[in-house]
Amino acid sequence: MIVEVIVDVAAYPIDRPFDYVVPEHLEDLVERGSRVHVPFGNRKVQGFITNIKGETDIDRTKLKEVLSIIDVEPVITEELLELSKWMTKKTLCYEIDALQVMLPAALRASYKKNIKIMDSSQLDDEILELFGKKEVLPYEEFEKAGMLRLMKRHLIEGSLLLENIIKQQTKVKTVTKYTLVEDKQFIIDQLNKLTKQAVKQKELIEWLLAQERNSFTMQEMIQTAAVSNATVHALINKKILLKELEEVYREITSLDYQDRDNRVQLTTEQKAALSHITNAQNNRENTTFLLHGITGSGKTEIYLHAIEKSIAEGKQAIMLVPEISLTPQMTRRFKLRFGDQVAVMHSGLSTGEKFDEWRKIWRGEVMVVVGARSAVFAPFKDLGVIILDEEHESSYKQEDTPRYHARDVAIWRSEYHKCPVILGSATPSLESYARASKGVYTLLTLTMRAKEQALPTVNIVDMRAELKNGNRSMFSVPLADSIREKLEKKEQIVLFLNKRGFSSFVLCRDCGTVVECDQCDISLTYHREGERLKCHYCGHEEPVPHQCPECQSEHIRFFGTGTQKVEEEITKLFPYARVLRMDVDTTRTKGSHERILKQFGDGDADILLGTQMIAKGLDFPNITLVGVLNADTTLHLADFRAAEKTFQLMTQVSGRAGRHDKEGIVFIQTYTPEHYAIEYSKDQLYEPFYHNEMIMRKQYEYPPFYYVTLVQVTHENVLLAAEYAKLATDWLRGNLSSTSMVIGPTASAISKIQNRYRYQCLIKYKQEPLLIEKLQQLIKIYRTEWIKKGVILTVDLDPSTIL
Ligand code: ADP
Ligand code: ZN
Ligand code: ZN
Repeated sequence: MIVEVIVDVAAYPIDRPFDYVVPEHLEDLVERGSRVHVPFGNRKVQGFITNIKGETDIDRTKLKEVLSIIDVEPVITEELLELSKWMTKKTLCYEIDALQVMLPAALRASYKKNIKIMDSSQLDDEILELFGKKEVLPYEEFEKAGMLRLMKRHLIEGSLLLENIIKQQTKVKTVTKYTLVEDKQFIIDQLNKLTKQAVKQKELIEWLLAQERNSFTMQEMIQTAAVSNATVHALINKKILLKELEEVYREITSLDYQDRDNRVQLTTEQKAALSHITNAQNNRENTTFLLHGITGSGKTEIYLHAIEKSIAEGKQAIMLVPEISLTPQMTRRFKLRFGDQVAVMHSGLSTGEKFDEWRKIWRGEVMVVVGARSAVFAPFKDLGVIILDEEHESSYKQEDTPRYHARDVAIWRSEYHKCPVILGSATPSLESYARASKGVYTLLTLTMRAKEQALPTVNIVDMRAELKNGNRSMFSVPLADSIREKLEKKEQIVLFLNKRGFSSFVLCRDCGTVVECDQCDISLTYHREGERLKCHYCGHEEPVPHQCPECQSEHIRFFGTGTQKVEEEITKLFPYARVLRMDVDTTRTKGSHERILKQFGDGDADILLGTQMIAKGLDFPNITLVGVLNADTTLHLADFRAAEKTFQLMTQVSGRAGRHDKEGIVFIQTYTPEHYAIEYSKDQLYEPFYHNEMIMRKQYEYPPFYYVTLVQVTHENVLLAAEYAKLATDWLRGNLSSTSMVIGPTASAISKIQNRYRYQCLIKYKQEPLLIEKLQQLIKIYRTEWIKKGVILTVDLDPSTIL
């Protein structure tokens, strides 16, 4: 038997399956999707079996043998094997990277495999003999005894069970259990043999026999049966009790703010939207729905219903949420509705916890996974629905290889399983809304808040006017007044400091002008070296002005401020306010995010000050005021999505206020109140914003009218970085169709990271049939030649940012 193996070596000539011979004793264990150890060069490496075949074109005597099989049952399903092939091509990554990204990190560690008896009456004598008096045996014993085939048969019928024990103790959490042997007569014989002095042993045996279970912890024996550690050990020595380690799942604690599951009567709008989804589920149609509903319109309630239906039909569901909104509140809502049937996966979990959650899915013990991006690979076998909440979030795109988008993977899987996908958002990405407008996706709309609360009143504050009136603080007069009022009323306040991305643009504080590129409608990026402003879309450069080109004011400078500075100012202005700060610094340790939210929810603070992290998921009844200190930072990102991101963020942040009975008020401070992204976010007017933004995208030839691919070249030496970027750009220009625009090379907006200089080239195209093939060729040149010169080249199709 021959297997094809994708080995864990990410390097160019190795990016293909290699043939290995399977030694006879392993033949019965070989399955597609299992990992193996194989010799590679003079090393031993891991690999995935991607194919099994009888014959090979290669001379058999030259083939090496599989050394061992890591997984007795495959960790990659047939579906995921297929998906990995598609991802390899779609994201131009190594196949091994596509396979690895589907597995939890813990699975990269080495295993110990134990085989445990489940039903001894079904076992062959040979197997029973091998076990002897033991209940559990290491897998290797079966290999040594040549009994792998027999073992596997019993595993399949369930009379034996495979347990994976990760060698690093921390990975699988175990508790020590003491089990009473099954043979009751043996116990009674032992009991009769006890000497008169062994009173305690006698008591313990009698206590054990009186219990209905046969598995105990040391603690309960000591406490309940009132015996000592030594007594328990005496019984272990007499083989009455068996000591064993039992795998347990780590408990993921979730905090309880509101402990009830609100089962609600759906509104007419919700019912209408849900019925389309239900129909698709009934008809096994892989429709992609775009569920567009303002914040609080009851989208999550619809997700819960679609998942419920899926479970009722014995199918599983994947619920994706952006990492940032995977709050305890959110996961709690799913746990309340679906109980133990939910696995939760997010980056706050330890490697071991993630592994536990993954195993629940893999073993079919849960029906739903709620998780961030990578949960889209959950190894479910029969999906009934896949949901992406906040579908516009850029965190659904992985920034590292493999550069996949969870939305694309979800849609691929929905085709495989013939189930619907729901993309939900209050502010859909322009791409998705455009697709829905064209009928590629099916648009479902919710226009009203489910509980009929009014949307909060949003006030736009012109910071230029504040400056003219002599207010140099970061708090405008109306915001400061409102904070004071809410503090008096003991209501809660959320202050939002916009710190997203890279914000080194130059802004005039008198008139709000930001220096932009004439060609690209994108803010120019400040580069400290040489005091220059650069456009990284087209390469245009100019010196930093000392006067505003519009109003000649000298108040023109960079923009940006830290949360700590804001906190100091709050303390100065409102000395009695209790402030909680939530940013990267205060949420570094595990669980701190939850802790801060809980403190705020419990009313331990008046003001929650934070960055993007607080924009979503916050749902506390006492929040009545939301202040956005600086709306402009996202507006002037050097990114064609700047306006879209600003609109999304403002809408989302505003949604934090007045979600319950008390009315909410919002202040958005900005130097450019006339910008349409700010204006339309005042009343959450998505459609007018969409139409306006589409006109801009069309005019400047950006997505969704054109596709964009980013090719980035980095090197420690600035000249070489520029040189190879030029080589790559020229090569692409010479090889792609003339309808594709190849722009560059230009220095990247972030021109240096970790001592590597960064240059880039942008490809814009409407249709480029040669794209994948040509990029593969370019990558081949890079992997075979340029890489030796210290160059790193990356290709990102549909990048989420191009900084
Ligand atoms: P979204 O996900 O669109 O922000 P949610 O599903 O979280 O909206 O709903 C917002 C609030 O309204 C939640 O507190 C939810 O329990 C409640 N809700 C949702 N649907 C209904 C309904 N049909 N009737 C009453 N309350 C509802
Ligand atoms: Zn000015
Ligand atoms: Zn430009």
